[in-house]
Amino acid sequence: MEKIDIKSLSRQELERALEARGAETYRLAQIWRWLYKDGGAKSFDVMTDLPESLRRKLKEGFHITYPVMLDAKRSTIDGTTKYLLKLEDASTIETVFLPEANRNTVCLSTQVGCKFACSFCASAPFGFVRHLKTSEIVDEVLFVKGHNPSASITNIVFMGIGEPFDNYDNVIKSIRVLNDPDAFNIGARKITVSTCGLIPGIRRFAEEGLQVELSVSLHSADDKVRSHLVPINKRYPLRQLIAACREYTDRTNRVITFEYVLIKGANCSREDALKLARLLKGLKCKVNTIIYNKIRAKGFAEPSKEDVKVFLATLKESGVHVTNRKSRGEDIDAGCGQLRISRL
Ligand code: SF4
Repeated sequence: MEKIDIKSLSRQELERALEARGAETYRLAQIWRWLYKDGGAKSFDVMTDLPESLRRKLKEGFHITYPVMLDAKRSTIDGTTKYLLKLEDASTIETVFLPEANRNTVCLSTQVGCKFACSFCASAPFGFVRHLKTSEIVDEVLFVKGHNPSASITNIVFMGIGEPFDNYDNVIKSIRVLNDPDAFNIGARKITVSTCGLIPGIRRFAEEGLQVELSVSLHSADDKVRSHLVPINKRYPLRQLIAACREYTDRTNRVITFEYVLIKGANCSREDALKLARLLKGLKCKVNTIIYNKIRAKGFAEPSKEDVKVFLATLKESGVHVTNRKSRGEDIDAGCGQLRISRL
């Protein structure tokens, strides 16, 4: 019989599975702690406070996943580290650790490859392979924690390879484990899910009752330009997307962040800023811009400092709350998918 992937179970599911094997109720807390504290147990043998007979039963019925590191690149500028991880079926994913003075963030992948083919994304040429399991998502955090034992992980962003809302159930399950005080204990408001604009996902997410941050990759207020940059816009065009975002903020009373990559000649003129301000008028939101991080093969380029200044100033004058995010790990090909590409 196939063994159960123990870290893909919710706490309640694990409780039921242990009960079915005759384990005392209090064993759940012990096993849960072993799985998620301090880099996580990689085998049942290390769970030395469990009786030998229970460890044997666990070994017979369950399986503990853990990725293997194939490569790592650390930025000498800011310490950002990108890990290339191999999963049990030999698929590879990237996970990024972003240490800062007052917080430590892990950027998670949610799929092997991605279907959405955003034209500026280094992951797009791979196409889609499969969804990550819940265990594989939380393993990314365990792995980073294991490799950086002195750093406490304070923030999570679902901004790596893959579209989180395309792997909705596993992503939500992983959020609940990350947020669990007896597992990772990462505050819901310190977790951000980023979508390229899957409207059904935004609607479902609004009903979850989670205090998690939502960010939407916008990149243009013009349907033609956005359809080129983010092709899912052809299916969920701006008017419908913004309407779904309004429903989300009304339902949750939470602010949405719109991610906006500034690309030379594509989306960051003064007119683009005015159009964006009109599109977002009255919406409870902020705009997070980031200057395009070069991927040589793509033919996109970084805008001039003057273009960026005018774009940001125009948004501010129009009453849009905007921040310009600093690009991290520039010396290590920090765009998602670039470590995988560099090994091809
Ligand atoms: S930007 Fe995100 S959604 Fe778009 S192709 Fe890349 S990984 Fe997929």
